[in-house]
Amino acid sequence: MKISKRASNVSASTTLAITATANELKKRGVDVVAFSAGEPDFNTPQYIIDEANIALSKGFTKYTASRGMPELRSQICNKFLADNNLSYKPNQIIVSNGAKQSLFNILQVLVDEGDEVIIPSPYWLTYPELVNICGGTCVYIQTSESNNLKITPKQLREAITPKTKVFMFNSPSNPSGIVYSKKEIEALAKVLGEFPDIWVVSDEIYEKLIYDGSVHYSIAQVNEDMFMRTIVINGLSKSHAMTGWRIGYAACGNADIIEYMDNLQSHETSNANSIAQYASVAALKGGKEFFAEMVATFKARRDKLNSLLKEIDGISIIEGEGAFYTLVDISKLFGRKYKGLVLDSAATVAQILISDYAVAVIPCEAFGTDKYIRLTYTLAMDRIIEGVNRISQFVQQVA
Ligand code: PLP
Repeated sequence: MKISKRASNVSASTTLAITATANELKKRGVDVVAFSAGEPDFNTPQYIIDEANIALSKGFTKYTASRGMPELRSQICNKFLADNNLSYKPNQIIVSNGAKQSLFNILQVLVDEGDEVIIPSPYWLTYPELVNICGGTCVYIQTSESNNLKITPKQLREAITPKTKVFMFNSPSNPSGIVYSKKEIEALAKVLGEFPDIWVVSDEIYEKLIYDGSVHYSIAQVNEDMFMRTIVINGLSKSHAMTGWRIGYAACGNADIIEYMDNLQSHETSNANSIAQYASVAALKGGKEFFAEMVATFKARRDKLNSLLKEIDGISIIEGEGAFYTLVDISKLFGRKYKGLVLDSAATVAQILISDYAVAVIPCEAFGTDKYIRLTYTLAMDRIIEGVNRISQFVQQVA
């Protein structure tokens, strides 16, 4: 079969593949503990579902403007002003089928063959795939545990070349959960200030999931220059437990960028689902109580998960203040044996955990590092305790 180079270069998403294996085992009756799913285990709040029912009963079932219905774009402007002190107009906003489509579109708009996109590592596995589809080149900045997996301004400066087109930024981060402070972001923006041709794509999808008094700060807030050349990506998937509804959005001070994204989207998918858009207007108006409950629940689970993991000899963790992920450093197990098999990578460990212990975790090779596995805390407390217990049993078997 002769398929395009573009398609043959795209890998299937590891996270979705592992989640599918875990679901398959569950269907066969295996008691799987799934630390793999990248989505809240909460139901979409009832007030949002009610709005979707109203949309259906009103017959709000037709095409909308490709970039999203005006009421929703206005509401997104209100959200940016209230949460981020960013003042956008509706023509600086586009609604898409999930944040993922906004990311796809913005890279298609900005990146030509040979252009470089700087990506701090570890990174969300979709970024490099999207860059590859554009024919762009990923330039990774390796982070270290000594700097809590954050890049430094010096590293950013060193990664910039005349070919740099985009700096991809993600805080709170998937997979590490780390959150950059305002001061750290300002320092990165200072470097970018010297390079006016570089665009910043700031993926802020986890902004609401933040703990320990950390505060989300957008790089678009730093100054007018950053406002004009940052494309903020966000959506309702994680904040409102609406992963299946597929509502994401992008905002940029430069409205022409949004126009180009809209041109693309109008031929790709047209508008995002009309019913989901209608419900999202209400979703963004409310939600305070829901966020408070969700954040408190995730924080309690994260604290429990991390404290239990810290008790296991031979592994260590990265303690993030955001999202719903903990990275577990398993590299000290490498070179040692489990049932005669030498452990050599996160993929091997993840395979053993799912096959022998029915614990689904994400090996981080596709996130740019083979020394970590990623655990989500989007599961009930008793399942977290059970899962960590099984991981501990596994580690004790490693000779
Ligand atoms: N950005 C990051 C960092 C993510 O982890 C995800 C989903 O896992 C997305 C974007 C995509 O979100 P959406 O469901 O809105 O497409």
